[in-house]
Amino acid sequence: MSLHILVTNDDGIDAPGLLALQKALQEVGEVTVFAPDHNWSAAGHTKTMHKPLRVNQTMLPDGTLAYTSTGAPSDCVALVVLGILDHQPDLVVSGINQGANVGHDITYSGTVAAAMEAVIFGIPAISISLDSYESEDFAYAARFAARLVKLVLERGLPPNTFLNVNVPAVPEEEIAGVKITRLGKRVYSDKLVERQDPRGRNYYWIGGEPPSGVPEEGTDIWALANSYVSVTPLRLDMTDHQMMEELRRWELET
Ligand code: MN
Repeated sequence: MSLHILVTNDDGIDAPGLLALQKALQEVGEVTVFAPDHNWSAAGHTKTMHKPLRVNQTMLPDGTLAYTSTGAPSDCVALVVLGILDHQPDLVVSGINQGANVGHDITYSGTVAAAMEAVIFGIPAISISLDSYESEDFAYAARFAARLVKLVLERGLPPNTFLNVNVPAVPEEEIAGVKITRLGKRVYSDKLVERQDPRGRNYYWIGGEPPSGVPEEGTDIWALANSYVSVTPLRLDMTDHQMMEELRRWELET
């Protein structure tokens, strides 16, 4: 019995990283591509509840049949797991995103959210991003994804845990290796931009330069800064166990 791999992303069905990923994973299992019909970057973990979802078939540039939905990356995963196709995925892989998802990015990322959605359904998942908004050279990242997918299928992942991968956008021969990392600290440089519409009303953009980060050793941000592939195991259980102890001393429970 061959293994079913669901490939999705948040950059949308036309993204080159999606095509590269599905190509690479075809050698590992039976790949189904089910992705949003437009770019949902920074959509976070969405559940579309107040409008209908449409699903369409399409063709990838290489002729492969694929599916799109009007929903978010996490909606795409839910649609598949809830039975829109005739089989359940054994693994969900989301990416390859254009732009790193490190540190606090993971709370904004639609790429990561798709992996989280899979984990909520008890399906192992990987999210993978390339550290560039411009590069379309996904060859190394795609091959690394295939290697990691084989390992995950062989060894499994604990419940509630998934792997978040970031690949440096440097020529392959400059990649220093692979590091298992923890989340670093992003530094955002967002600014509030105020403009006026033709009717004289103000509207706003939250934007600015791409974020930087604190390159503390052992973090995902540090790994990318030193040309290492970063693999971070993430858990959906965000409980702060230390703070539980501290909170108990607040005597709220008495
Ligand atoms: Mn994206």
